[in-house]
Amino acid sequence: MGRAKEWMLEQEERGWYEGPDSSVCPDCFDDDVLSSFVREHADAFECDYCGNTSQDNGEDPGPIAAPFNAVMEVIAEGLFKEWNYADDEGIPYESAEGGYLAETVDRWDLVYDWVPVSNEKLQRDIAKRLPDQQFCERDFGSLGPAQSMAVDWESFCHVVKHRNRFVFIRPQSRMTASPPEQTNEAEPGVLDSFGPSELELAPEEILDTIGHIVESASLVRRVPAGTIFKRARVHSRKRMYRSAETLGTPPENKVRYPNRMSPSGIAMFYGALDGYTAVAETKTRRLTPEEIVTVAEFVSTKDFSAIDFSNLPRVPSLFSNSSRRERGAISFLHDFVQELSKPIRRNSREHTEYVPTQVVTEYFRYAFRPSSGEPVRGIYYPSSRVPNGVACVLFFDREACGVAPESAWTRPEQFLKLDVKSIARMRRRPAREKPPPPASQGSLFS
Ligand SMILES: [Zn+2]
Repeated sequence: MGRAKEWMLEQEERGWYEGPDSSVCPDCFDDDVLSSFVREHADAFECDYCGNTSQDNGEDPGPIAAPFNAVMEVIAEGLFKEWNYADDEGIPYESAEGGYLAETVDRWDLVYDWVPVSNEKLQRDIAKRLPDQQFCERDFGSLGPAQSMAVDWESFCHVVKHRNRFVFIRPQSRMTASPPEQTNEAEPGVLDSFGPSELELAPEEILDTIGHIVESASLVRRVPAGTIFKRARVHSRKRMYRSAETLGTPPENKVRYPNRMSPSGIAMFYGALDGYTAVAETKTRRLTPEEIVTVAEFVSTKDFSAIDFSNLPRVPSLFSNSSRRERGAISFLHDFVQELSKPIRRNSREHTEYVPTQVVTEYFRYAFRPSSGEPVRGIYYPSSRVPNGVACVLFFDREACGVAPESAWTRPEQFLKLDVKSIARMRRRPAREKPPPPASQGSLFS
């Protein structure tokens, strides 16, 4: 075999071809991992793609660009973690059917869709270094974790919306109520219980899987005593509301409409961390001249646990060391939360539309037990109406908000206390308070 041929085969085996050496700067990538790799390996003073030079970077001009071939190695490694040649994945090819019998992409689309760059020339150079083959997802036969969870979630939604809603716990699974498939090797690593599934999961298994993902992603947080929750109520101007009875969780018989996380008849405390969001979530249109909005603060009187969907971890880069299942699980969480915080619509479809999230909420409330062993008493979620606004639903009834119980014999646990001094009547939405600090883990909770 000739030298050149040998070289070609070697490069193909590796997955990419080395080319003439050029240098690239961190600004040419929209990916933290690639940009910081470039910074660490910079040895040139000019970027051959965007023309950035060290001089542009101010007083202390050090090298700013790294060898393209070095970065290309990281890019190829990342791509091949999740993608492979269609031929190597055993995808049948039928010329009569017009090609591969599965969805494949060529190298141009692969790079366009999966390598975040801010420079077209760079994008072309990356694609040109990949073999001219058709690519498909690695392990094509079994769906990747992200897709498999998406499929499972879709089937879950269908079941609870249209088939059976109230009893889907199978007797057998009740007997062996343990987390699905724990591989007890050393640490039960992040999201390890979340593997690709060959079979469609049963609804209760999907709930457990969501529970595991929530726990693995550390979304269960402690809400300290003294946390302020704002609640808004829109009402006639002729009325005056100043009590926990009228401003806290409504009485059960007044809960006529289903909400995104609770069906009609089940009362929960819907609120927000700031007044602007509380009003925006309560009243979507302008107030009529007869209406007024009262905003009140409820302060938590003791610590409790809640799930925080308002501040999800970012989906790890394809080029980081994160595992594929971790990326899949976190991207599922993002899709799920988007669903959870979709703007609510009153069009009679709400009676079925919100059933899946109502079931999940009920699961978190009654069946989910995080490792702390403490029950979860609420869910934080991003407001669909206010960017960076955080809304919440707390599983507190009227008594938990401080309303005296109807029977003198019960002594319910109180979690929230109305701060009467905070009550404000407004003709329009309150001014937007300073938004909370940019999303960083644990900013909402201490
Ligand atoms: Zn550049």
